[in-house]
Parts: sequence; C-alpha cells; structure tokens
Amino acid sequence: MLPTHRTFSVPGAGRTGGASGGSGGGSGSGSGGRPGANDAAQRAQFTLALRRAGVMDTRVLSALESVPRPAFVPEALRSHAYADCALAIGLGQTISAPSVVGKMTQVLAVQPNDNVLEVGTGCGYQAAVLASLARRVTSVERHGALADSARQRLSELGYLNVSVLHGDGFCGAPQAAPFDAIMVTAAAPHVPKALVEQLADGGRLMIPVQRRGQAGEVRAELVLLRRQGQELRQETVDQASFVPMLTGLT
Ligand code: SAH
Repeated sequence: MLPTHRTFSVPGAGRTGGASGGSGGGSGSGSGGRPGANDAAQRAQFTLALRRAGVMDTRVLSALESVPRPAFVPEALRSHAYADCALAIGLGQTISAPSVVGKMTQVLAVQPNDNVLEVGTGCGYQAAVLASLARRVTSVERHGALADSARQRLSELGYLNVSVLHGDGFCGAPQAAPFDAIMVTAAAPHVPKALVEQLADGGRLMIPVQRRGQAGEVRAELVLLRRQGQELRQETVDQASFVPMLTGLT
C-alpha cells in the first residue's frame, strides 16, 4: 500500500466548488433483500472475507454488514450476494466485490458529517454503504435506466440521504459541491478536472485510473488525492478491475 506520493497544485486554483463541467431478499431468505437467520453462516464468511482483505475500520465493517447486498443484485444471482466477487447487474455493468467496496471506502475515511459524491451509481450498493457513513450522498450515473432503478431501490430501502442523478460523472455534480469525499467506481482514463475542482479543502478523491484503454473490464490503479488548500497530494493505494468510465449519457 501507499507506494507513490506526489504533490502538485489544484487546477483552477482559487475555486473550491461550484465549478462548471470539466474535462471531461436476502440471499434466498425472503423478500425485501433482508437476510434471515439461515444466512448467518454466509454473512459470517462475508465479514471474514472483508477482514482478510484488510477492511478493519469498524464503522466501514458495520456499514457493509448493515447494507443488504442481495437487494442490489438481480434475483438470479442472489444466492451469490454474500460472496466476495463482482456480479453482473445488467447493461454490461457490475456491482464491485464487497472487499473492493470496503477497501475503497476505508481509504476514503468518510466522516459522519461529510458531503459525499459517488460517480457510477450502478445498482446503488456503494451509495448505500456511503450513505450509512456520511451526512449526504450525491451519486451520478450515465445510464438513465440504472439511475432510475437505483433511485427507487435506495428509497424503498430507506436510504433517504442519497440523491441519484442521471449525468456524466466527468462533470461531477457542481450543484451539490464542495465535497468532503468523492468516490469514482469506474476506471477513468485520467483524473477529471471538475472532480478536483469540486473537492472541499481537506477533501479526498478516490479514483481508479486506467492503466490502458481497452474494452470491458480494465485493470486500474486506485488513486487517492487529498486537497490541502491549493495543494493536492496523490497516492496510489492499490489496484483492481473496474468497468470503464465513459463520456456521454445513455
Ligand atoms: N458503484 C456501483 C458500481 C457500478 S459499476 C455499485 O455499487 O453497484 C460503474 C458504473 O459507472 C456503471 O454503472 C457505469 O454505467 C457508470 N459510469 C461509467 N462512466 C460514467 C460516467 N462518465 N458518469 C457516470 N457514471 C458512469
């Protein structure tokens, strides 16, 4: 972990948000995605896998344990919902493996009063985890159909501090900025300038950056940027595979 450190200045220095667009049922246990007693073994394994992957932060572990992952995956895959793997959610997109969600969330160090932006809502799972830890979450998704279903799902599950927007994450969400924490859940070709501009002083941005452009899932370096005044500090914290971050709406 933390092999590289770089410091450089914030593009569009002097701006701290309000920026305009930049460069860019429970695992077979019943209804509602809520687990039942016979899920106990699966859930214990789920927590064990998270700990083995290095997720030790007790708030992050509790958040992951509290979000009913089966409610976020297609019915046919619910028996795999507590396995530590990525699963297909339709439209060529995936829900990330719980250990990847956990590690990214842990490194982002989300605080109870934070205003958080997520780019890439997908099925809304990561948004629910962030909503369990933060004051407010805005999540942007370029697929209208995914945004609509995630919005409905999160509302039905009672995550009332999340707003799902149909938009292009390369532009962030200037109307809700500045953000204390930003998490991008698709592999970006570069760090979008608008996201850096929408970081609050002291804010953190976690983003997978593609090693090279290719179709389908791409291997990416997980980059953490921290803003302190007009300075940005960058670390590469890990690597993982993600679907690519694409421009334009669909
Ligand atoms: N966070 C999601 C994982 C979704 S996979 C979850 O918990 O399920 C990544 C998502 O990023 C996909 O849904 C994809 O459509 C979306 N995406 C890709 N490029 C985007 C962009 N430019 N703006 C917003 N969303 C984008």
